[in-house]
Amino acid sequence: MEYESIKESLGPCGLCCETCFAHGNGDIRRYSQKLKEKLGNFEPYAKRFETLLGQPIFKKYPDFKEMLDYLASENCRGCRNEQCRLFKNCGVRPCHQEKQVDFCHQCKEFPCHRTNFDERLYEIWVRINEKIKSKGLEQYYEGTKTRPRYV
Ligand code: SF4
Ligand code: SF4
Repeated sequence: MEYESIKESLGPCGLCCETCFAHGNGDIRRYSQKLKEKLGNFEPYAKRFETLLGQPIFKKYPDFKEMLDYLASENCRGCRNEQCRLFKNCGVRPCHQEKQVDFCHQCKEFPCHRTNFDERLYEIWVRINEKIKSKGLEQYYEGTKTRPRYV
């Protein structure tokens, strides 16, 4: 895969936008839409199944549906195209433009303290940029694009 298309799928921090729940073309949104479509008008059936099957879990269907509707509606275009909706205070996005690098590992100040990330995210950021540096962008991307983002 070409550098430019891989770059489009990853933020300058190295995190994969495609695996984010908020990404418009991500699997989470796509599968949520598919599940919504397959469930159709499930709500009255959930009420019936609660009685027929004696399963109180069906009482929770409206909450599940609300969450599913939300996941199916997200439409972020990724960090290269708009400000991240999750990390509103992200320091990397404006900074990489200023430093004129595509990824933080290419920057001579890496690892810096401009990210505004919390401790956990900072550690992940350092780890993934070191991985990109040692394994190369393509190999890193091939590994990360199929792994769940939320582990
Ligand atoms: S820019 Fe932020 S909200 Fe949008 S897909 Fe990437 S990580 Fe998710
Ligand atoms: S200064 Fe830090 S946040 Fe900015 S591009 Fe370099 S490594 Fe990334």
